[in-house]
Amino acid sequence: MMTEEKTLLSVEDLKAYYVSQKGFVKAVDGVSFDIKEGECLGILGESGCGKSSLALAIMGLFNRVAKFAAGSSNIPGLRKKFEKGQEEGDRPGVRGKIIFKGMDLTTLDDEKLVEIRGKQISMIPQGLTHALNPQYSVGFQTGEPVEIHDEDVRLIELKKQVLEYLNLVRIADSGFRFVLDPGSFSGGEAQRILIAMSLISGPYLVIADEPTSALDVTIQRQIINVLRMIRDDFDVSLMLISHDAGVIAEIADRVAVMYAGKLMEVGDAIQMFHHPGHPYTMGLMSSFPTIAMMRMKAGGKRPRLRGIPGDPPDLTDVPSGCPFHPRCEFAIDRCIEEVPQQREVESRHWVRCHRYEEIKE
Ligand code: SF4
Repeated sequence: MMTEEKTLLSVEDLKAYYVSQKGFVKAVDGVSFDIKEGECLGILGESGCGKSSLALAIMGLFNRVAKFAAGSSNIPGLRKKFEKGQEEGDRPGVRGKIIFKGMDLTTLDDEKLVEIRGKQISMIPQGLTHALNPQYSVGFQTGEPVEIHDEDVRLIELKKQVLEYLNLVRIADSGFRFVLDPGSFSGGEAQRILIAMSLISGPYLVIADEPTSALDVTIQRQIINVLRMIRDDFDVSLMLISHDAGVIAEIADRVAVMYAGKLMEVGDAIQMFHHPGHPYTMGLMSSFPTIAMMRMKAGGKRPRLRGIPGDPPDLTDVPSGCPFHPRCEFAIDRCIEEVPQQREVESRHWVRCHRYEEIKE
């Protein structure tokens, strides 16, 4: 829920490229958006569209991961290519601006970034099974972000804080279970422990990367409730990354729809779900069962989910012009030849489509 209209994070023309075994990947390609204080922005898109690379770039971790990808590749010279770069404007690494509380994070050195990462900006990572270390107790790991940034914290204070946050995310019997290792907790509890870890150092921005994936429906519901509680009760901004329009619809104030490394549409969540302006957003929304459809189903009728034909592109081989053109029912020749720009079509509503005005009619 928005508290005031003050910008916390402003991302301007962000590019994050890397080289993989398959070739040159433009994972984030000219992305611009902002997040206000206290706002929840949902980043919605199919798998492999660049959402997680965007999160890594904001966290200042993209280059490290990209270098690892290049270094671990078997293609001769790939590592050299990463370090030396290719032509200016088309080389691996992060470019553009990430303005957080007035600082451009892309210009900060590692030491300064470490101060911000985990304390002012924290992340709930994707891939539950590897996120918690099986060798350390849950209590130790929950308190770690505080200890890293404040070595003088008193143990008794830290323990109090750890228990407070474990209770907050509804870990039952945390008073004696905090000494146990992660293997003693269920998948849903492990995800909630990760949420406690992301909040304990009092960040301004929490990035949640697919926080409900690989969880069953009941557990998903619990996680959504905890995320809603964060949104409503904490003075924190949330960037929620998901391929699931249903999860985004439950929590986000605004939505940014991502496709092939670019944002296709950014706008108010209610407007985007009811009146999407971009053909890709329309496709995503029509593959999302609405309450009306569920009622039809309950009444014995068969509602139609339209979905989007075809598959998302391989980021090493993105189609020319509008990257969505091979799947778009409105595509014309111009869409194949010319990349559409991200235009503000009305106040705080951006669409990247040559034919927005015609399609809207
Ligand atoms: S620019 Fe063309 S291909 Fe792309 S979404 Fe708009 S109409 Fe479809």
